[in-house]
Formats: sequence, C-alpha cells, structure tokens
Amino acid sequence: MNSSSAELRANLAPEETRIGERERVAGAMRGFAREFGALSALRLEACVHCGMCADACHFYIATEDPQYTPVLKVEPFKQAFKREAGAFAPLFRWFGLKPRVTAEELERWQHLLYDSCNLCGRCSLMCPMGIDITELIEQARRGMFEAGLAPSELYEKAAHQRHSGQPEPTNEPYREQLLAIGRQFGVEIPLDKPHAEVMLTVPRTDIEHYPAAVAALARVMAHMKVDCTFRTDGLIAENYGYYAGGRDWQRRISMRLIDEAVACRAKILIVPECGHAYSALRWEAAELLGRPLPFKVQHVTEYLADALEAGRLKLRPADTGVTAFHDPCQLVRKGGVTDAPRRLMRAMGIEPTETVRHIGYNICCGGGGGVFDIKRAAPLRYRVVEEKFNEIDQTGAQTFLTSCSDCRRTFDDGKQHFNWQQTPRSLLELLAEHLRSA
Ligand code: SF4
Ligand code: SF4
Repeated sequence: MNSSSAELRANLAPEETRIGERERVAGAMRGFAREFGALSALRLEACVHCGMCADACHFYIATEDPQYTPVLKVEPFKQAFKREAGAFAPLFRWFGLKPRVTAEELERWQHLLYDSCNLCGRCSLMCPMGIDITELIEQARRGMFEAGLAPSELYEKAAHQRHSGQPEPTNEPYREQLLAIGRQFGVEIPLDKPHAEVMLTVPRTDIEHYPAAVAALARVMAHMKVDCTFRTDGLIAENYGYYAGGRDWQRRISMRLIDEAVACRAKILIVPECGHAYSALRWEAAELLGRPLPFKVQHVTEYLADALEAGRLKLRPADTGVTAFHDPCQLVRKGGVTDAPRRLMRAMGIEPTETVRHIGYNICCGGGGGVFDIKRAAPLRYRVVEEKFNEIDQTGAQTFLTSCSDCRRTFDDGKQHFNWQQTPRSLLELLAEHLRSA
C-alpha cells in the first residue's frame, strides 16, 4: 500500500476498518449501482472533455493540479457505471476492459470526492454540456458512504447527529448554551413555544464560535416582534449526513427539523447564516420526505429582505467604508439568493464592492461541504482561501462581510494561518447593530 493510501486508511472510522476489503468494495459497488440511472448515464456520456470544469473549480485554480478537474473526481462513478450499467457493460465485463474498482482506488478517490470538493456548483454552472457534475459528486459520496469510506470526521459527526441532534457531544447541551448566549447578550431567546409562525434554527458553528450572531438573530426577530421560536429537538441547522453522503442519515437529521416545525405549526423555517444547511433544507429535504414541505424554508437574509420590503424592518446607515461581500455558494448558485443581501446592505447605505469573480461566479472559501472538518484537507484548503483573500484584497475593502458562518470560520482560520489583515464579519450581526425603531 502506498503512503497516501495508508494515510487515507488511517483516517477511516473504527467501524470502517473492521469491514473487510471485499465487503467494502462490494458495498461501494452496490451504492454506486443504486444511483445509476438513465439521466446520470446521459450526463456522463455527454462529456466532451473540454476542460472548462477545471477552470471553474477553485481547487484546480489554486493548484493547477489536473487531478482536481471536477469531472475526474467522479471517475469511480463513471468506471463503475461503464462496467456495470453502460451500453457495453457485458463486453467490458467479459473482456475485462474495465477492471473492478478496488478498495485502494476508492480510498484514493476519497481525497477527491471529499477533501477537494465543497459541492459548490460552480463546475455545473460552467459546463457547456449542462452536466451537473456537483450532483454526480454528491452521488459518488453516497457510494463511498455505503462502502464505509466517508472520512471519519464526517462519519462520526453524522452518526452522532443522527442520534442526538447535535454533531458531537458537548459539556453543555446546545440548548443550554443557547440560553446562556441570551443571558450573555441580554436578549430573550424564544425557546420551545408550542406554536409559532416562524421556527428558527442555529448553526453549531455560531453557538461554538460566534455567539454574537446567535444573539443578533434573536434581537432582529424581537425588534420586528416576530412570533418565533427555537426548538430544543430541532435546533442545529447543519446536516452532517449530507456532507458524509449518508442519505438515510441525512433524511433522519432533516426530519428532526421538519417534525419540530410541523409540531409548532410554523409557516416559515428560517435557516440562519449557513449555506449548506440551506441546500439541505431548501432543496434536499422535500425530496427525502417524498412530498413538498408543509412550510416555507428561507435563508435569514431572504426573510429579512422581505421584511424590509414590507416595511417591518427598518435600518440605520452603517459606516463600513469600502465593503466587500462574499456570497456563500449554496445561496447564490443553488438558491439564487443574490439580491437579498445586497438589498439589506443598501438599506444601511452600503454599496458592496464586488470581487473580480462575483455573485453566481464567485469562488468559494474552500471550507464548505464538510471540507473544513477534514483535518488532512487543511493544506489544500489554505491554497483555496489564499486565492480568495487575494481577490478580496484587490477590492481595497475596509470591511468584509459574509452571510455564512462556515465561510466565516474558514476565513477566520485562513486569517490566522496567513496573518491576513481583514476580519470577516457577519451581515446579520451588522444588521442587528443598525436596527432603527419606527
Ligand atoms: S466542462 Fe463538462 S463537458 Fe467539459 S470536461 Fe467538464 S464535464 Fe466534460
Ligand atoms: S462542486 Fe465546486 S468544489 Fe466541487 S468540483 Fe465542482 S467547482 Fe470544484
């Protein structure tokens, strides 16, 4: 076994290491096979190898390493498809033209499917053949999960969240931490109201690292007198099942939130400043549930932009100087949430100075989709965040805002690593500081 394979194996969860090699490969093949379908086949066969997805991916842009070409990241999926389900599958198998995918290969691909992909959607946006490469990578992650080859950090957090609702044990449950944040910032935390028009959720990243953002959400809602509540059993917005590729676990994690929203008869479920949580709930949850959600899902910036328009949210001018804004990939590319944050900024007198690649074409922070949690991915992630820092520096920004706590955390970590001069700030916190009465 080569050193990179050994390194990858060392990152497997204990349960995974107990599974024999043959079973793991068989599991992977079953997982892949389950995802095979006519549409996927069509997508894969349509690739004309133009290479445009390489130039779309920030992991390739930052390293110029061909292995980070998005379409090559789904190679195991493609090979498995050709061997098992493609038009010439019997011939491939009979003549041994496509060898079986081996465990070593799958472990090598773990790096490409998890460590070097944020599921950001930029490659899908750029592909001239309309191939949704991001979706294929998500499907390939599911195959890896089936084979017990999800990175241990994501696997363990998903396993814990599936049972307890929070991704890992804490000395104090998140519910208690939430109430403590309310006391610390002098803001009332609406919790476990039996009925409310709006259900609020919170990123664990904010509870652990940015409590002011949690307080800001409660403060803005109180300011507008919104009938809202957090729910103990449906608190955490992130979905580690989604990151890991565990479809059933993802569904169970989403169901906690869905059940709680239904129980309190919420008409709207607000996803806080967390991009991938938005995708998991806004787009994936209904598919996993098998029917439309009985409530509306909105990112907090969407909800507040609507409130602004309706005259329920009033803001004072903010003196932030030259201001750059980072659009979280899940909001801007998957959700089309482009105007809402800009309308909110303009209501505070801020005209954002855009980076060279911006709005839908914005490049990522590098930490989303679970990448931040994978320790061995840090050196690669720093290459990406450095690329992003250069773009932000080019704007001459004096203030740098975003509306995703995971992006913010990735930037903060990069700031420490590179001693970067900017400090990423939360748009929501800025709004809470500039509320205007009447
Ligand atoms: S951009 Fe699309 S067609 Fe071009 S290489 Fe990538 S997947 Fe293939
Ligand atoms: S989804 Fe984003 S990070 Fe993943 S391969 Fe495509 S461009 Fe790269």
